[in-house]
Amino acid sequence: METTDETIFGGSFLLAPIGSQPQFTPEDLSDDARAIGQAARDFVEGEVIPRDADIDKLDLALSKELLRKAGELGLLSLEIPEAYDGLDLDKISGLLVMEELGRQASFSVTYSAHTGIGTLPFVYFGNEAQKAKYLPKLGSGEWAAAYALTEPGAGSDAMNSKTVATLDGDAWVLNGSKMWISNAGFADVFVVFAKVDGRKFSAFIVEKTDPGFNVAAEEHKLGIKGSSTRALNFDNCRIPKDRLLGEIGKGHRIAFGILAIGRFKLGAGCNGIAKEVLKYTLKYTGERMQFNKAINSFGLIRKFLADMGIRIFVAESMNFRTIGYINDGMHAVAWDQPEAARKKLDIMDEFQMEASMMKVWDSEALGVIADDAVQCFGGYGFSAEYPPEKIYRDNRINRIFEGTNEINRLIIAGQLFKKVGNGTLALRKDIEDVPELGSGPLAKAEQAVELAKRQAHYALAACLEITGQKLIENQEAAARAADLVTEIYTMESAVVRAAKMVGTGHRWAELAKHCAEAHVNEGSGKVQNLARLLLSEVLETGVLERALADLKTFDLYVPAAGSKLRDAIAAQLIEKGGYPIEHF
Ligand SMILES: Cc1cc2nc3c(=O)[nH]c(=O)nc-3n(C[C@H](O)[C@H](O)[C@H](O)COP(=O)(O)OP(=O)(O)OC[C@H]3O[C@@H](n4cnc5c(N)ncnc54)[C@H](O)[C@@H]3O)c2cc1C
Repeated sequence: METTDETIFGGSFLLAPIGSQPQFTPEDLSDDARAIGQAARDFVEGEVIPRDADIDKLDLALSKELLRKAGELGLLSLEIPEAYDGLDLDKISGLLVMEELGRQASFSVTYSAHTGIGTLPFVYFGNEAQKAKYLPKLGSGEWAAAYALTEPGAGSDAMNSKTVATLDGDAWVLNGSKMWISNAGFADVFVVFAKVDGRKFSAFIVEKTDPGFNVAAEEHKLGIKGSSTRALNFDNCRIPKDRLLGEIGKGHRIAFGILAIGRFKLGAGCNGIAKEVLKYTLKYTGERMQFNKAINSFGLIRKFLADMGIRIFVAESMNFRTIGYINDGMHAVAWDQPEAARKKLDIMDEFQMEASMMKVWDSEALGVIADDAVQCFGGYGFSAEYPPEKIYRDNRINRIFEGTNEINRLIIAGQLFKKVGNGTLALRKDIEDVPELGSGPLAKAEQAVELAKRQAHYALAACLEITGQKLIENQEAAARAADLVTEIYTMESAVVRAAKMVGTGHRWAELAKHCAEAHVNEGSGKVQNLARLLLSEVLETGVLERALADLKTFDLYVPAAGSKLRDAIAAQLIEKGGYPIEHF
């Protein structure tokens, strides 16, 4: 793997002492990245949000028009190489743009299905002729793209697909069907996965006018009603022989490599809309009077508001940290280098664990934020006339697509167990040193993260030395292991960023510090509990009791009064009327 720092690899955060690894934060954004983020914000505020109601009526012509406008601004070609009229910007810019686009849930799916899973297979796997034919059109928005992997009988188990491709003279003949395909109602080109001769999983390019290709009617969905979702049918669909994408039998590399990239973007989109939800919830709770007081003066409403701010801060810290690592590696490989695409995707593979953590944590954080928004609005939150009802529905899909959160938890655990098994992540069960309390402004939180890492090392090592990688077969235990390391990653990302902000005298350093401390306050207890429950899945009675006693050596974190931290956070959010740590 090519990264600029060999000590940083997927999962290495578990080994490195807190603060010893460089961590990219939104405060480190370059002027160029801020400019593209601002362009995306202007587009979303000028063109997308004002047409929210029309988008949600599933106006397909409008979706296509908006894509074309985004194309004119360069927002569709961020990741397309310059040789094919793209901007070839870094991945950080892509994350910023996705956060802005996330603010309108339906169009955000349209946008990411087109620019991500729809376009990136051409970028990474297309041959010269395919790239030259499709990428300029996709980058400008002249054509819209879709990605068709899922089938009626093959969702999470995507490799079990039944769609087949057979070579007949100079054409491939496709037969089968696909399900739940975003952008299908207006896409011009589809990346379709099918098995050559019913065995070799491969990818093909299908154009909407190809004979034997049919797009079914729109699905009636719970949310993202403005995003087109349809089934596809292939009935002796004939496509030219040169529409094979990549190699026969290597379709899984395309299918899963591209989905991994989609995951961190989904996380960023979730955080973009979370900021929107916080904004309108702050407004409503400041205006709504009960018991002769604005409801934002009540401790329990202030807790909801503060928790939204904390989750946004934590997600943002984790997202930018992760993209910093991925970008360092991927953007360092120029497109004119030999095997550039493979090298770039190897970097993405390396950080699969972190990308899945972003997907799971951010989508579930938005789930709680959306639910809390409904609660803050009371009965009005249940009414379609007020904004929380829509996000409550729209957000639900984020836990289902781009790999369900169950599948993503299994990916996190699978990567973790594999890396422990092959010695890449050398866990230390015999850690005896109790981390010292430092003297910095976040010393207690930093010590808590170190304590949490020791608990994770202890519990994971104790379990894995008995089960080895077979621990993955106990899915509940595997999911607990995934949650355990995710919790640590989020805590560390928030604490390191807050410490950096305090160190540089950032205007919102105090808010950042409170958010990180409040997150650690809850997270420490969660880590302790997850470690205990994980041990209980594997160790026998007697051994288990001794292990729990060992684990207690690291249960030294003394919780702060969470209500004081949250009250201070809520006060700052209320004063600003939104999440105030702006990127630009
Ligand atoms: C609005 C929408 C848009 C979509 N867009 C696209 C698109 O553009 N292109 C595309 O190809 N697909 C798309 N999808 C499909 C989506 O990716 C799948 O729905 C998803 O992968 C889950 O597959 P499934 O629906 O068949 O559920 P299943 O795989 O049947 O899962 C059902 C339940 O079982 C669980 N489960 C399954 N396997 C396991 C396991 N091994 N261990 C534990 N639990 C498991 C799942 O987590 C889930 O809870 C879209 C779906 C929707 C709803």
